[in-house]
Amino acid sequence: MSLANGRSYLAIPGPSVMPDAVLRAMHRAAPNIYEGELVDMMDGLTRDLKRVARTDQSVAIYIGNGHAAWEAALSNVVAAGDRVLVPVTGRFGHGWADMAGGLGCDLQVIDFGRKTPFDLNRVEDALRMDKDHKIRAVLATHVDTSSSVRNDIAGLRKVLDAVGHPALLMADCIASLGCDLFEMDAWGVDVMVAAGQKGLMVPPGISFVFFGDRAAKQRAGMERVSRYWDWTPRSQPEFFFQYFGGTAPTHHLYGLRTALDMIHAEGIEAVWARHAALARAIWAAADAWGQGGPMELNVVNPADRSHAVTSLRLGAPYGTALRKWVETQVGLVLGIGLGMSEPGDPAGDGFFRIGHMGHVNAQMVMGMLGSIQAGLIALDIPHGSGALEAAAGVIAAG
Ligand SMILES: *Cc1c(COP(=O)(O)O)cnc(C)c1O
Repeated sequence: MSLANGRSYLAIPGPSVMPDAVLRAMHRAAPNIYEGELVDMMDGLTRDLKRVARTDQSVAIYIGNGHAAWEAALSNVVAAGDRVLVPVTGRFGHGWADMAGGLGCDLQVIDFGRKTPFDLNRVEDALRMDKDHKIRAVLATHVDTSSSVRNDIAGLRKVLDAVGHPALLMADCIASLGCDLFEMDAWGVDVMVAAGQKGLMVPPGISFVFFGDRAAKQRAGMERVSRYWDWTPRSQPEFFFQYFGGTAPTHHLYGLRTALDMIHAEGIEAVWARHAALARAIWAAADAWGQGGPMELNVVNPADRSHAVTSLRLGAPYGTALRKWVETQVGLVLGIGLGMSEPGDPAGDGFFRIGHMGHVNAQMVMGMLGSIQAGLIALDIPHGSGALEAAAGVIAAG
């Protein structure tokens, strides 16, 4: 018998769960885009966005997904023939590198596999070898959403400084912004890209490029920048339409306004702490399951794990079987294993991911873990005992 009817939980790593308040804020007639509320909203909106990113510098908004923000950011600071250094820890770094490749950049990719973060010594070596400073930017994914590896962005800045290398430090915080601690200015990040549908709790279709003075200077030295991606008018608009290079994403802006209100009412430090505690509860359950069966957290060292997404190994075909079971029997949607094996390889059925980003609280996580426990029992997948007890202990400790 299926017990799936009722409110479902989409526990995939983006799009994330949308708060009812965000949905309500968007449920309205089209607003005027020439004057009035929407136009008046923008100063506060960009200010509060920058507070989430912990920056006093600039932000440009794009109507597009994370891939759009990748291309937008690159288009302002690198051109065909420029070299970019891309340390990769899963799937998404390759995606950003590929975007740079499409713009004609000369790619220098260092692949660190799918289980561990950047080895900063190897990045340092690559920068030191670049005596002529041909590398114009380092593209670094903060949280890789496929492997759930979290990289040390502040450490990367220290490496650039130690080497005395002038390349821009560009961070992909699409999965981490509003979930994992991130300090754009304090960490010396030159460019940061984010999107709406993960920690920011709004629908896909709006993305952000934050940039600082060093990046603005590199932009000013560019021979040409595509009109649409150019961040200059978007970040310093003379007219409202320049924020968006055309018609505003009207309803996304109302949703975002409400989401930012929710984030700042809770307090960004409290938002980070909530994500950290919920992640620890998930890890505690997974560790207990793993004591008596094949379940394994993909990232071994807790300090290297994302607080927004968790990648797990269960062995084929258990990963896919568990996902199907919880979806049809319980009303819980877990994420597919992404980028953990080659497409078509049956080993791909051994992975799954839990999205726990944005509008997620302890009862949702406990319900999700209890549902996975039920699936392990129903499917006869070997597992250790005490997982829910362990997770509850983490929640009880706060
Ligand atoms: C989701 C995600 C992307 C891609 O975003 P889209 O909106 O799907 O284009 C890129 N990088 C990271 C780290 C992500 O989590």
